Amino acid sequence: MRVCKAGGAPLADGASIRKMGQLLAREPERRVLVPSAPGKREARDEKITDLLYACQAAAAAGRSFGHLFDRVAERYREIAAALGLPAPDDGLRAVYTGLKEGADAAWAASRGEWLCGRLLASYLDWPFVDAAEVIRFDAAGRLKTAETLGLLRRRLADGGVLPGFYGADDAGAIHTFARGGSDVTGALAAAALNADVYENFKDVAGVYAADPAIVPGARCVGDMTYRELRALSRLGAQVISEAAVAPVRAAGIPLNIRPAADPAHPGTWIHAAFGGETPRVTGITGRRGLTLWRLEAIEKGADMARAALDAGLPLERLALDADTLCLTLGGKGDLPETLTALAHQARHQERLASLSLVGEALPRLDAPARFSAALTAAGIRPLSLHLPPVGQALTAVVPEADYEAGIRAVYDAFFRE
Ligand code: ASP
Repeated sequence: MRVCKAGGAPLADGASIRKMGQLLAREPERRVLVPSAPGKREARDEKITDLLYACQAAAAAGRSFGHLFDRVAERYREIAAALGLPAPDDGLRAVYTGLKEGADAAWAASRGEWLCGRLLASYLDWPFVDAAEVIRFDAAGRLKTAETLGLLRRRLADGGVLPGFYGADDAGAIHTFARGGSDVTGALAAAALNADVYENFKDVAGVYAADPAIVPGARCVGDMTYRELRALSRLGAQVISEAAVAPVRAAGIPLNIRPAADPAHPGTWIHAAFGGETPRVTGITGRRGLTLWRLEAIEKGADMARAALDAGLPLERLALDADTLCLTLGGKGDLPETLTALAHQARHQERLASLSLVGEALPRLDAPARFSAALTAAGIRPLSLHLPPVGQALTAVVPEADYEAGIRAVYDAFFRE
C-alpha cells in the first residue's frame, strides 16, 4: 500500500483537488491520503493556515476577525462548489464559534487541515480519521510515538483521509507540529502501516540538483539516499524537513517526492542505500549570511574548541589545529567573553556564504579537485574549504557576493555533461 501526502499547493482549489483525486484513482494501492490545508493558488495568494493564525491573533487581541474569517470560508465554499459538494457550513460555523470563544493558536491553525480533510473524505468517499484521535501528544506537546503508531495502524488499516499537521493530548487539547508538519503526519502514517512507499505530492517535480532560481533548468534528481537528503537540507536546501523524514527512514520505507501536476513524472526517490552503479554527486546547495572567525593561541586550539561548543553558538562548522580555531557561524555571530579571553588574536569576516556539494560518492569522484578548480575558474577564492574524509558533503566558504556565481560554476562542472 502507498501512503500519499498532498501539500497545500496541490489542494489549493477545486481543479487541483480533482487532479489529485484522479492521481489517487490511477493506483489502487494509494489508499491513505494526508492533506495539508489549501495553500496559495498563485504567488500573491494567502495560505489558509496563515489566515487562521491571523484570525486567532485578532480574536485573542479583542479585535474583529470576521473579514479574515470570510476569506477562509469563501475558499472552502469555492472548493466545495467546484467539487460538486454541499458547502461545509457546519464545519465553518464550528471553527468560527471556536475562534469567538477564545481558541488557542494550535486549535485555530489545525482547523485548516481538519476542514480540508473532511471535504476530501466526502469527495473521495473514503473514511475520515480525525488526527486528534490518532496523533497523540503529551500535555507538553511532545509526540507519543509508540501510541500514535499503534493507533494509526488500527484506524487506517482500511485506508482513509487523515488530516495532517495536528494531533491532541489526553485532555483533548490540540497540538501541531512545526510549520509544514503535514509531512510528519504522512511519514508517521506510512511508517505505522509499513507502506511500500511514502508518496509526497508537491508543486515541484522533486528535489533539484540546485536551486532553480539560481540555476534555471536545474535537473530534478532521480534518486538519492536519506543521508544525502539530510545533508542537502542541513546545508541549506529547501527540501522536506528532517523531522518528516525520520519515521520513514527509520522504517526503511522509500520516500517519493512527486509533482501533483504531472502524474507520469517519477519525481525523486529517496532510499536507504544508493542502488545505482555509476558514482555521481547529488546536488549543490548553500547558505548565506555567515561569519568566519579565526582565533589563535599557542597550544590552546582544543581549549578554545571546547569553549566554543559549550557556548551554544549557531555553529555551522568548526576546524581546529593545535594553535588555531576556525568557526563558521550562522548570522553575525558575536563570540562570548569565555572564548575571546582564551585567544591571543581573534579576527572575523562577515557576509560570507557556504557552497556545499553533496553526494555519497564524493570520495570516489576526485570531487575536491574539480570543486576547487570550478570555483577558481569562475574567479572565486574560497576563504576555507572543508573536505571531510567521510561524510556526504564538501563545503567552501566564499564571500556572499560570489554565492550565486559559485553555485552555477559548481553545477556546470558536475551536472552538465
Ligand atoms: N498547513 C500547515 C502549514 O502551512 C502544515 C502543512 O502545510 O504541512 O504549515
